[in-house]
Amino acid sequence: MLNPGDIIGILGGGQLGRMMALAAAKLGLKTHIYCPDPNSPAFDVTPYKTMADYEDEEALQAFAQAVSVVTYEFENIPAPAVDFLKARLPVLPNDNVLKVSQDRLSEKAFFNSIGIKTAGFAPVDSQDDLQKAVETLGLPALLKTRRFGYDGKGQKFLKTPQDLINAFEEIGNQPAILEAFVPFEREISVIAARNQQGQVVSYDIAENVHKDQILKTTTIPANIDEAIAAKARQIGESVATELDYIGVLAIELFLLPDGFDNRLVANEMAPRVHNSGHWTEAACLISQFEQHIRAVAGWPLGNTERHSDCVMTNLIGDDIKERPQLLENKQGAYHSYGKAETRDGRKMGHFTQLSPRSRP
Ligand code: AMP
Repeated sequence: MLNPGDIIGILGGGQLGRMMALAAAKLGLKTHIYCPDPNSPAFDVTPYKTMADYEDEEALQAFAQAVSVVTYEFENIPAPAVDFLKARLPVLPNDNVLKVSQDRLSEKAFFNSIGIKTAGFAPVDSQDDLQKAVETLGLPALLKTRRFGYDGKGQKFLKTPQDLINAFEEIGNQPAILEAFVPFEREISVIAARNQQGQVVSYDIAENVHKDQILKTTTIPANIDEAIAAKARQIGESVATELDYIGVLAIELFLLPDGFDNRLVANEMAPRVHNSGHWTEAACLISQFEQHIRAVAGWPLGNTERHSDCVMTNLIGDDIKERPQLLENKQGAYHSYGKAETRDGRKMGHFTQLSPRSRP
């Protein structure tokens, strides 16, 4: 269990690391951010920082000596860096979780192994495999790289047999997975947390809308039945327990229309705080970021209840220029990640619009 003033090491210096560092400071803990990028937004808000590659063993060694525990803000940390660190101090969540979630194939196999439904899938390691997988799963389908995909990158939507031509090459000739298309009614996500004592909690289910495959808005409460919401929360909590997880995790789910037998289908898991949980910062007493810090510190988890309904909108690229109007909005909270350079498709900040809490 950490004591006030102890230092939490965070791998990754993006906005998620930044918001975790802010939450740690609020609790009287300190952070040390490790990231190769000199312009990392998290560097602005941490007393300690290391700017080095994840392969730099000297820097990793010094980092390991400077902190009490290590956590991370992204799942694609090179495995040797994690192995190096975990031989020296606790890395939370544990690296088994990383192995499951870094690869779409092992992630789906894991979901199925604990009774959580996914889209039909098949491994694809060549153009030949792709043809065979399409014969089994049918079209439309999605061809996705097994690793390093995010925000729709490394994916190809296959609608007609013509789309198959060169598809494997187009995603970079790398290990891939074919997923049957899920005719979902809406996309939702669950944010759950588990601490070292095995206490598990989850937040209200979020409804997500993507634009150009990047999250645009998250609305709470999701427009779904209470029974579905309860089932989705149970999925989040059971995954956390099954993985002996410590920290916050997110699971993105597809909701199928009424009439389907099993309406909840898991898409993917993120072993970290998640964009679809940013709303918790403004609409809950304890945000996902604080919850994660509490969990890795070995502290009790906090209340996940929302005090308000809300819509969180990502400020992407030039959206951040709406700052003057957003700051005038008395029911909303503006949050900027302090990134110096605005680029198309880049997450620059978010805005959470609150309204009085409606139904349970
Ligand atoms: P992902 O990178 O797996 O999160 O996919 C990005 C987005 O593509 C999802 O949020 C969905 O909107 C869509 N998508 C991904 N996989 C499927 C699928 N199997 N069926 C239908 N839509 C999908």
